[in-house]
Amino acid sequence: MTAPIVRFAPSPTGLIHIGNARTALLNFLHAETHGGGFILRYDDTDVERSRREFADAIAEDLAWLGVTPTRVERQSERTGVYRAAVAKLKAMGRLYPAYETPDELERRRRRQLARGLPPIYDRAALRLTPDEIAAFEAEGRRPHWRFKLDGRAVSWDDGVRGPQTVDTASLSDPVLVRADGSFLYTLPSVVDDIDMGVTDVIRGEDHVTNTGVQIEIFEALGGPVPRFAHHNLLAATTGEALSKRLGSLSIRSLREAGYEAMTVASIAVLIGSSEEVHAYGSLAELAPHAELSAMSRSTAKFDPHELDTINARLVHHLDYDAVRARLAALDADLGEAFWLAVRDNLAKLADAVEWAEVARSDAVSVKADGEGDFLAEAARLLPEEPWDETTWGTWTKAVQTATGRKGKALFLPLRLALTGRDHGPEMKRLLPPIGRKATSARLS
Ligand code: GLU
Repeated sequence: MTAPIVRFAPSPTGLIHIGNARTALLNFLHAETHGGGFILRYDDTDVERSRREFADAIAEDLAWLGVTPTRVERQSERTGVYRAAVAKLKAMGRLYPAYETPDELERRRRRQLARGLPPIYDRAALRLTPDEIAAFEAEGRRPHWRFKLDGRAVSWDDGVRGPQTVDTASLSDPVLVRADGSFLYTLPSVVDDIDMGVTDVIRGEDHVTNTGVQIEIFEALGGPVPRFAHHNLLAATTGEALSKRLGSLSIRSLREAGYEAMTVASIAVLIGSSEEVHAYGSLAELAPHAELSAMSRSTAKFDPHELDTINARLVHHLDYDAVRARLAALDADLGEAFWLAVRDNLAKLADAVEWAEVARSDAVSVKADGEGDFLAEAARLLPEEPWDETTWGTWTKAVQTATGRKGKALFLPLRLALTGRDHGPEMKRLLPPIGRKATSARLS
């Protein structure tokens, strides 16, 4: 296979969510795996709703996930290219002017439905006489432009779904240019895919019908038709579309909630594949599990609670080197021994802050009533430093011998006095980062 060129084409009209991340990652990993290129292309021909801030936020969120484009394009800067394509289609008789208002179209649609007919545009515009057109123009109406479909079975071999056919005879001729001269998504997308040498269009299955239409446009423009792969969509387990849950499931809010990028990326890719969802440590490790042909075709149900369990499992395996800078930024970098002591107890990396507090601050100590003498005795028996993971065992054995206590009666007052909590990381690992001086102070 020659190196693929793929593109992720978000409309910068809002933040991206985990479902969009799925599309972006499947494209990116496909390109990475095969040594190809990944174009970030903003579908921003809708000037009313597109915002530069959203475009920047999308790039930032993608970068957080590790998705870095080899090329960035904005459709709003390419209208000249689309106009040339429009001229070409007009000259070929594939683009025709239509003058119906949205109201008129809607009334016609309802009449068709009432008569049990499919609500397909009836091509009335093709039958307008020059006089009728002149009358519309005199009224001040400006035409929108429709692409004249061949009305045939358009087939392709889908990278996820296998052989597909869309019968374009059952579709309305799509509007490519609005009355105000602006472009709808359909045409610029095809023009850019041709112009940018896109070899693989990987997108959600909500675009399957579009693909039938767009293949006709690719062919009309004489461009090579790319390969298509339509992946299944993510839905929350409640059944609602993710876009409705954008508040909590935007990449931005998942990041702010403290989830690891690889948790989000792994879930985005693996939910609805035949593989068990597991958070891989890097995109390179995830890539072999992002095979398009292995994707399931049914809707991928996504339970937001999975974020927590999968994230915790990932954090428990993070090496100190991988987290050191982030711990430092949280003022929670107390060295490798500390990290190894606490990581198994964290749901999110930022939870290390709490344990850094515990290790650092004598204010955490809690002394159970009537335990003063016991703790004072334990303090007297503290081994000299240096301390390591054997210190806790040596020490508590000595305390046991001296006091006759064992089990919970032995360990719980010590844990409470040293951490202020009745649960937490293994004490044998936490003791060295707390150190002898602080331990002694907390016991007395
Ligand atoms: N802007 C379109 C979308 O987000 C792009 C679809 C495509 O990849 O062609 O659905």
